[in-house]
Amino acid sequence: MQRNRSAVVTGSTSGIGLGIARALAESGCNIMLNGFGEASAIERERQEITRDFGVEVHFSPADLSKPEEVREMVDLAMRRLGRIDILVNNAGIQYTAPVESFPADRWDAVIAINLSANFHAIRAVIPQMRQRDWGRIVNIASVHGLVASVEKAAYVAAKHGVIGLTKVVALETARTGITCNAICPGWVLTPLVEKQIKELAAFEQVSIDEARAELLSEKQPSHEFATPKEIGALTAFLCSDAAGQIRGAALTVDGGWTAQ
Ligand code: NAD
Repeated sequence: MQRNRSAVVTGSTSGIGLGIARALAESGCNIMLNGFGEASAIERERQEITRDFGVEVHFSPADLSKPEEVREMVDLAMRRLGRIDILVNNAGIQYTAPVESFPADRWDAVIAINLSANFHAIRAVIPQMRQRDWGRIVNIASVHGLVASVEKAAYVAAKHGVIGLTKVVALETARTGITCNAICPGWVLTPLVEKQIKELAAFEQVSIDEARAELLSEKQPSHEFATPKEIGALTAFLCSDAAGQIRGAALTVDGGWTAQ
């Protein structure tokens, strides 16, 4: 990838987003981090990426459930980095419950962060990408953008929406140097999934190791987790010039989950 591109990676204080931020920094991108967490831990991460890869790294604390804060994050990135060449919409949350007892406020929160924030960020960054006729938008969807699982009504609806949004943006930018694609991970061992493993272990009264193995064997034929590093590497490839004709795709990294 050409060095000195500028990238905003949402939800990059943890898990997959952090893996993506590090992979893009390794490719020479200056980075705007975003997400929640302890200020000292975020500052340590910011300094570590700067030191490891010799790029500029900034941080926005925007709460992406609020459209006005999505705009503030984009404005801050424009001020700090001068432009946004790459937008990775990664921030996401999970909530599980049967649909008839799914709390309405959890539905609203999942849709706001996992779907609507992508829309607000995309519409804010595209005009300046069009001016340079180059841009990369990568939306971190999920296998749950392609297939469903029980008790994940909001998450599955949001992720299917992300894939639809990805296709529309890809078509609207098809005659430009801007591409928009989605990545659909299966199980990746991050805090978001560790919480589900703990809940499964408590529900079935088994050990964490047993719950982890059960989670994998139920859905993921490889019986192995994908890693934030692997998702980061695919993101970096999608942001390279070699990926210029990959448009509107939903690429799985799921150990065979959706091949079944
Ligand atoms: P994670 O919980 O480790 O990280 C989520 C990130 O989003 C954190 O940085 C968190 O601070 C941030 N975030 C949460 N709410 C936010 C808000 N309102 N505003 C700003 N930032 C917010 O989770 P992860 O597993 O790394 O998930 C990252 C993305 O990957 C999510 O979109 C998730 O749906 C998707 N995904 C994860 C898996 C998996 O198995 N872990 C599988 C498929 C898709």
